[in-house]
Formats: sequence, C-alpha cells, structure tokens
Amino acid sequence: MKAAFCQKCGSALMEQDRDGYLRQVCSDDACGQVFWNNPVPVVAGIIEYKGDIVLIQNVGWPKEWYGLVTGYLEKGETPEQGMLRELKEELGLDGEIGEFVGNYSFFEKNELIIAFHVVATGEINMGEELADYRIIPIDKVRPWPFATGIALGDWLKRRRT
Ligand SMILES: [Zn+2]
Repeated sequence: MKAAFCQKCGSALMEQDRDGYLRQVCSDDACGQVFWNNPVPVVAGIIEYKGDIVLIQNVGWPKEWYGLVTGYLEKGETPEQGMLRELKEELGLDGEIGEFVGNYSFFEKNELIIAFHVVATGEINMGEELADYRIIPIDKVRPWPFATGIALGDWLKRRRT
C-alpha cells in the first residue's frame, strides 16, 4: 500500500532513502513524518469442522476462489483471540485453537500471515462478509501455492506424516 499524502499533515509524500530503505517521507520538513509501511499481521484459520475442512469465499471474490478464514486484529487482541472472533463473525462458529501452524510472509500484500488450525463447533451461519463456503473432506483439500495456501499445505503435510 502506498499513501500519496502525509497521514499527519496532508502534504504530498516523496520517496527518500533512509538507512538503505526507500521510504515515503512527508515533503513538509516541519512535519517530517515517515510512512514506514510495515507489514500488517493477518490471522488465518484452517477450520476443522466435524472432521472436515471449511473453506470460505468472501463477497467479491471470483466464483472459483475459496480460502481460509482470515482477518485483521483489533487493538488489544492476541492473534488467538482475533482468530476465534473472525471465525465467529464469518461462519457463526465457536472454536478452539488446535495448533499454531506458522508465520508466512505475504510480500505482495505486505502482510504477515499468522496461521492456526482451529477446531470449530456449532451451526454454520454465514456473516455478511461471506458469499459462500465449502465443506471439504481433509484428504480432498488441495492447497494453493501462495499465501494462506502454503500454511494449509504445511499443515496437511505434517498431518500425513
Ligand atoms: Zn506531514
């Protein structure tokens, strides 16, 4: 993500070398704000439900896309708490963290994916962010080769060995 204007004073941003990193810096010297553009943490859940895996489709995604339950953290929330809140919001399910799967850098979106296996219970009730969901037997799940799909692939691999 690139900001065109300073979030502090509204002046135009310009690119400037700072300690070897090209940063977006406020053009107003009196302000001097640096837009660090640090990666944003995103939680992602491999949702196990009655022995199967639930994949979701967000509103606006292409019809053939299904993915993990993901979301940003709220202030004051641990990744585990955020994960379980997103599960409740998106699918209406309660969950327990099964295991921490790993951290995955998603450079294209400047995100750090924090992936969990979550065991979910209750009745599915789609939230307004979702267009669809799919329940897939674990041995039929095909992970995609980027972002959250890598976490899913790692989890499946560990499970099978
Ligand atoms: Zn500024």
